[in-house]
Amino acid sequence: MLSIIIPSYNEEGNVAKCASVVSKLLSENGIDYELVFVNDGSKDRTWDIISNLARNDEHIVGVNFSRNFGKESAIFAGLETAKGDACVLLDCDLQFPPEVIIEMYNIWKNNDVDIVEGRKNSRGKENPVYKFFSLWFYKMINKSSGLDMEAASDFKLLDRAVVDSLNAMPERLTFFRAMSSWVGYKTERVYFDVADREIGESKWSVKGLFKFAINSITSFTSAPLQIVTVCGVITFIFSVILGLHTLIKKLIGASAVGFSTVIILQLLTSSIIMFSLGIIGFYLSKIYEEIKQRPRYIIRDIIRKDDEEKKNGK
Ligand code: UDP
Ligand code: MG
Repeated sequence: MLSIIIPSYNEEGNVAKCASVVSKLLSENGIDYELVFVNDGSKDRTWDIISNLARNDEHIVGVNFSRNFGKESAIFAGLETAKGDACVLLDCDLQFPPEVIIEMYNIWKNNDVDIVEGRKNSRGKENPVYKFFSLWFYKMINKSSGLDMEAASDFKLLDRAVVDSLNAMPERLTFFRAMSSWVGYKTERVYFDVADREIGESKWSVKGLFKFAINSITSFTSAPLQIVTVCGVITFIFSVILGLHTLIKKLIGASAVGFSTVIILQLLTSSIIMFSLGIIGFYLSKIYEEIKQRPRYIIRDIIRKDDEEKKNGK
């Protein structure tokens, strides 16, 4: 069986369409499936629609969070709820073309492959500023973590073994895209074009993206901490040179470094120190979040038609 995991946040216009398109596609191709819709604390009618679908269709499972926990949490809740021999992560807005699921399924079925990852050919209609930062961000993650993440997406098929490995990872602050690459396993790629979002709007805000970037960097690399050390070494070398220079000047009787040089150096070093403290602070806050050991999400309801029928003695 194939489980399709669909994180949904304020997607009242997309849920029913997504369910019917994906159900039709999978049943036409003779694939046994379940759709796991995770309602991530939506403020609109998303949960009403999901719960209705789940009550009436044994192929649909509805998971409802107690509040909005973010897409990452919704992905991991889906992975823990799914019962399939393989799971596919899909966006509710159908920006990932559903036909590619069949392509992924066939690759997984016919070859000895554990992960089939979708890579973006084009990024759809995106703000050029966003494009620039995301390119730069992934270049940095690639270089420092040794994982190849360029044009990576959350659109992936994972074998049961991979899902179990991911479920066994205990961290609270997750970065699915990198974690599913970190676990290793035999990986195949398929390329797809990102479609435009037809209904509703993207949930990403500048603040949200910044938080996501900081979280991803701190969870996948300690390179910024090494950069701090390098900064320290450079300023040390610089100060030794300046010290020697001043000493020689003093010895030959010329006037030593002036007042403004002192002020500039003072400002330079203190800003380097504050910058470094900030970086250490990011890691510290991450340790703090992890050490609290709070759950990644809280589930309010799960609706599965089979379970309800068992409960009602049918
Ligand atoms: N999503 C979610 N929780 C959130 C934000 C987004 O579950 O807090 C879901 C959303 O419903 C969608 C998917 O994550 O199915 C991708 O979100 P979106 O389309 O806003 O991102 P984009 O495609 O613009 O990167
Ligand atoms: Mg989208």
